[in-house]
Amino acid sequence: MNKYVIIVGAGVGGLATAVKLLSRGYKVVIYEKNNRIGGKVNLIETDKFRFDLTASILMTPKIYKDIFKYVGKDYRKYIKFIELDPLYRAFYYDRTYFDLFRDIGKLTESLEKLSKNDSIGYYNFLSNVYEKYLIADKYFLNNSFIDPLDFFNFTSLQKILKINTFSNAYKHISSYISSEKLRNLIAFQSLYVGISPFDGPNIYNLVPTISQLYGLTHPKGGMYSYIEALEKVIHEFNGKIITNTPVEEIIIENGSAIGIKSKLGIDKADIIVCNADFPYAIKELIKDTTAKGKYTDKKISNMNYSCSTFIMHLALKKKYPKLLVHNIYIGDNFKKNIQSAFVGKLPKIPSLYIYCPTKIDNSISSEDIECINIMVRVPNLLFNNITWNKKTINIMKKRIFYQLSNIDGLSDIQENIIYERVTTPNDMLTKFNSYGGTAFGLSPTILQTNYFRPNIKSPTVDNLYFVGSSVHPGTGISIVLLSSNLVVEEILKNNF
Ligand SMILES: Cc1cc2nc3c(=O)[nH]c(=O)nc-3n(C[C@H](O)[C@H](O)[C@H](O)COP(=O)(O)OP(=O)(O)OC[C@H]3O[C@@H](n4cnc5c(N)ncnc54)[C@H](O)[C@@H]3O)c2cc1C
Repeated sequence: MNKYVIIVGAGVGGLATAVKLLSRGYKVVIYEKNNRIGGKVNLIETDKFRFDLTASILMTPKIYKDIFKYVGKDYRKYIKFIELDPLYRAFYYDRTYFDLFRDIGKLTESLEKLSKNDSIGYYNFLSNVYEKYLIADKYFLNNSFIDPLDFFNFTSLQKILKINTFSNAYKHISSYISSEKLRNLIAFQSLYVGISPFDGPNIYNLVPTISQLYGLTHPKGGMYSYIEALEKVIHEFNGKIITNTPVEEIIIENGSAIGIKSKLGIDKADIIVCNADFPYAIKELIKDTTAKGKYTDKKISNMNYSCSTFIMHLALKKKYPKLLVHNIYIGDNFKKNIQSAFVGKLPKIPSLYIYCPTKIDNSISSEDIECINIMVRVPNLLFNNITWNKKTINIMKKRIFYQLSNIDGLSDIQENIIYERVTTPNDMLTKFNSYGGTAFGLSPTILQTNYFRPNIKSPTVDNLYFVGSSVHPGTGISIVLLSSNLVVEEILKNNF
């Protein structure tokens, strides 16, 4: 056997696909444009600190662990997962805060402090979304929809109606919960797929629901430790990763992908898996117009794209005991400011997500230092109206520091900074070829999900597969890992 697979891109999707194919005897080489692997799950590292570049929230740890099981390895030898409780601390602009516990007793007590009706409402909300999640998991997330009949059949259509995803996430939350504070905290989490909770389908309420039911986990050393764990397994299986080598073209001949072109020359392979962002790859790496199929340049430009993010990475010279690992700040006029990222404006009163892994993990920096990421949703670059220069960055920083100054226990952050870096939408575009500088790829609107999202197998080119955020089933690390499962299943089916 020993078929040769080239993977374009060493994001989490490409790495997970490599691990599984190697374990089944395929020869695998990954070409990565950057010096460091991991794609958006990346790292800022100095001799004193280590910051996760973007992702920090680890949901559904089982999906992460299952990859190791699939290849016959014990994940505990590669990575340590630490369960979190409380899951989040939410700070509000009126200087109050609320802890969202995993433990059901503590959760009930804190919910009852809001009101007994909201406590009942929250549990009913979880139950409703949990049922939808189980349906989505069984019928949609783990089905590749390569054959249209996999989707357009009575059972699938019946299940779509059952999960009734048509009202927006915020309306759905509000039908169970009256506390605005709790509504906003839940809605903020459904933003993690890069779509507004005020417009996006309510199925994305499965993000807060899954976090509550399956918990949140911190990988020791931060999220990048998972990338390092996958890299280790790839090397154990004798896989090869070639860094600093952008692929320039996926070569297609007579309707089949036959190799790639890079500065190292042409490399011919039996199978190509493209992990580079789908819209970018179709536009830039596939030159043959027939091979693009329905994804013409015009169609790619007209699709809906997720928002982007502005991130401040700060090392602070003292500890901030008020911070947990995951913190959310809900600013005043929440709806208007959240919506701004989706209408091409910078939020004037940004709501914030603050990641503070040093709260529990001293492998990240020395003990008396806090390393935090502060993240704000901002428009993607396709709006074409915001230039991420020094002036824009300073505007955002000023707005963020102003909000922090209103939070008890965090108000002196600006005075205690000993290291600072920012990540902007430009970084998503230039470092990772994320189309339009988005954080989460193609927006997961109803008309861009399931059968309607780009598929993991090219319908027009043999031996060409796609894995990653902008293809089915969607964005977020665990969902991208599911997309790698689907790719591997399909390759094994067609090439055993
Ligand atoms: C700010 C932010 C916060 C996030 N937070 C979370 C979170 O908390 N939890 C979570 O689960 N998810 C989160 N996500 C989403 C998650 O990070 C992504 O869904 C996931 O990392 C995408 O992985 P991927 O493999 O699809 O693609 P990518 O990470 O984009 O990887 C693609 C790879 O292809 C490479 N590449 C591109 N073009 C070429 C080329 N021509 N030749 C060779 N290589 C190429 C890129 O350099 C990159 O390494 C977040 C994302 C962002 C941006």
